[in-house]
Amino acid sequence: MYYDDIIGQDDIKARLARDVAEGHVPHARLFCGPPGCGKLATALAYAASLLCERPVEGRPCGECPSCKMTARWVHPDLHFTFPVVRPRGRSGDVTSDVYLAQWREQLCRTPYFDMTDWLRAMDVENQQAMIYAAESDAIVQRLSLTASRGGWRVLVVWHPELMNETAANKLLKILEEPPARTAFVLVSDRPDRLLSTIVSRTQRVAFPPLPEEVMARTLSEQRGLDADDARAVAHAAAGSYTRALARLVANEDEALFFDLFVLLMRLSYMRKVKDMHDWAQQVASWGRERQKDFLQYCQRQVRENFVYNFRLPALNYQSRREADFSRRFARFVNERNVVGIMNELAAAQRDIEQNVSPRMVFFDLALKMIVLLIQ
Ligand SMILES: [Zn+2]
Repeated sequence: MYYDDIIGQDDIKARLARDVAEGHVPHARLFCGPPGCGKLATALAYAASLLCERPVEGRPCGECPSCKMTARWVHPDLHFTFPVVRPRGRSGDVTSDVYLAQWREQLCRTPYFDMTDWLRAMDVENQQAMIYAAESDAIVQRLSLTASRGGWRVLVVWHPELMNETAANKLLKILEEPPARTAFVLVSDRPDRLLSTIVSRTQRVAFPPLPEEVMARTLSEQRGLDADDARAVAHAAAGSYTRALARLVANEDEALFFDLFVLLMRLSYMRKVKDMHDWAQQVASWGRERQKDFLQYCQRQVRENFVYNFRLPALNYQSRREADFSRRFARFVNERNVVGIMNELAAAQRDIEQNVSPRMVFFDLALKMIVLLIQ
């Protein structure tokens, strides 16, 4: 992660590079600003610039042995503290190290992520992550080692506001008497929840939200969206690139769901049983959560198609592609079969939740559609 990989935030990038070039490196910085604006990405690039052996105008060279290690987040003088969840079957405090492998994988995927993504990466959805008291001892221990490559040591703390009180007080002690050649970077959406004594020990860098046009340009250039889609996604993301990425994944899923919904309806109508079997195999190969999402999507489309027949566009919530399909298909969903189709989709969803074999569930569903669609 170098400055060039960070979206927007040009003023902050230039200022940090200039500070490093001039040797002005405060021992602690607080990167704060709204979610998804690139605080963590910038913290990582800043860390890389401090650890680089031959920085170019305060920016990491990308070539030296240190940069090669930073690129994979395995530099021995780069340390991380982040919220974690106690693994199942384990008691007592846990430290960030327990999830270091998942953390590095997440950073390699993208540094634009939020707590929901991080919980998913730890495979512990619906739990509360925090920085436990034991983390502060781990920090002391990590920083008691001499820098293995003779330069700076950097500690990046993600979501310091989620520190337990003991840990926060110990961090304050460390910041009051910082070890030599050590840079702390605290990355927080909620600096108001930090101890004011910690905040006053840091130099604050306030990030603005990402402007819509900057985000739209990035979505076009890096994700291949056409100008209209890029603008729509950027607008909905309201300054957060993390939110924009989440929206893209949802869009991709919906596009695939739409294709498979259309295919199911076509194949059932044409009674292509062999192809219906292949269709069921494809959907059955997904995870159960995604299968449930798909069945919900199908229920929504059936409802939309039924409503379409009443020619009241204000009541229809469809994308352009979905509406195009409804123009030809809606007449097949009528008062004789709509309840039956909805019931079958809901029953399939229940079966999936109760761990019935997805191959059977989806093939059965397809076969029933043959009968229902001609009513
Ligand atoms: Zn370098």
